[in-house]
Amino acid sequence: MFIDQVRIKVKGGDGGDGITAFRREKYVALGGPAGGSGGDGGNLIFEVEEGLRTLLDFSYNKKYSAPDGEKGRSKSQHGKNAEDLILKVPPGTSIYNDDTGELIYDLTHNHQQYIVGKGGRGGRGNVELARAGRAGLEIRENGEPAKEHNIRLELKLISDVGLVGMPSVGKSTIISVVSKAKPKIAAYHFTTLVPKLGVTKTTDNRSFVIADLPGLIAGASQGKGLGHQFLRHIERTKVILHVLDMGSFEGRDPIEDYEQINSELFAYNYNLEKKSQLVVANKMDLPMAEENLARFKEKYPDVEVVTISALTQSGLELMLTKTADMLDAAEDIVVEAEHVKVYKFMPEEDFYIRQDEDDVYIVTGERVEKLFLMTDFSTYDNQRRFANQLRKMGVDKALREAGVQSGDIVRIADYEFEFND
Ligand code: GDP
Ligand code: MG
Repeated sequence: MFIDQVRIKVKGGDGGDGITAFRREKYVALGGPAGGSGGDGGNLIFEVEEGLRTLLDFSYNKKYSAPDGEKGRSKSQHGKNAEDLILKVPPGTSIYNDDTGELIYDLTHNHQQYIVGKGGRGGRGNVELARAGRAGLEIRENGEPAKEHNIRLELKLISDVGLVGMPSVGKSTIISVVSKAKPKIAAYHFTTLVPKLGVTKTTDNRSFVIADLPGLIAGASQGKGLGHQFLRHIERTKVILHVLDMGSFEGRDPIEDYEQINSELFAYNYNLEKKSQLVVANKMDLPMAEENLARFKEKYPDVEVVTISALTQSGLELMLTKTADMLDAAEDIVVEAEHVKVYKFMPEEDFYIRQDEDDVYIVTGERVEKLFLMTDFSTYDNQRRFANQLRKMGVDKALREAGVQSGDIVRIADYEFEFND
């Protein structure tokens, strides 16, 4: 298995601020509250798109945020909610929390979505807060700030097509002439030998991943050399392109090579013989090629063969089209289930209380800090509301348990106040 990975920062949109406003009517000096609430920030969502094969698109931009919600308007009008930002990823993409290393989610099937960056809620304006029975009219909330997350996307790239064949039959040359995109490969699980991987496309726009697997050696099925690791990789491919040097350039006999490779594949008890295989007769530009091909066809009249020359780049389109047809026909192989754990995305931490040297009680934690950011401290109504919310969250009780006395100073983010029992 090959791994393609990127590290990015993602964030939902911030909620729009609610506003404080009042009705202005003829003959009414100061009407009731008319400040609209802010719109919600957009969510940042990952969505699987089947045709995608790599995480390459994420290497250009490292930071993604969904748009912010609109600010509330006067005349009780709600600000617009922002659109979600949907980022398309290939099937098989795992999302990790890059700070903790935890797996957050595995995205596997087409159109599956996962919200990684939740958009902030729009702050309420004084219309909504007054309706909810809050005391005072000069009240409003700032929009909820969305949190930025450091994440790592990891794609377990299952190559659709594996090139097998004896050394020097032309596998590397083939992959270099048919593939354009070369995904960055972060690690190869089984060995330090990194197979080359390319994304290729047929003339009718069907794309697939093709892997140039390092030469299969005799005895691989008994675990010699790279044997099992190599074969385990082939196990995950859907189609095998069996490359033969029809030109006998190295003095090899393509028929003997064909039989030897197949016997290795079949000896490994993972049903490799049932996998679709296409024989690629390479080096057809060489003088010996036609004669060898005729011999091969005589011995294996039912085996489908495509003839190519990777060197002169002939026959490649037909080879790719046939491969894509076989891929379409191949039923999806079942990939061994890896650990699939779904974590709820980073729950907000509760609050903590500590005392500094000056005996100031410091309250920290995402929820209280967010509450601080959502409060407009310029009016008395808002300050009172903030105090009420702290009480509801249990901060007062916890402060008392921590030994706070009337008159002690409490600090939350940049806000300091005197505790008053
Ligand atoms: P691999 O070991 O299977 O990856 O083989 P390579 O791609 O490294 O090719 C081995 C040698 O065969 C190189 O010298 C290539 O230039 C040569 N070769 C590959 N394809 C062709 C071909 O179609 N015709 C000829 N004449 N030589 C080729
Ligand atoms: Mg090679």
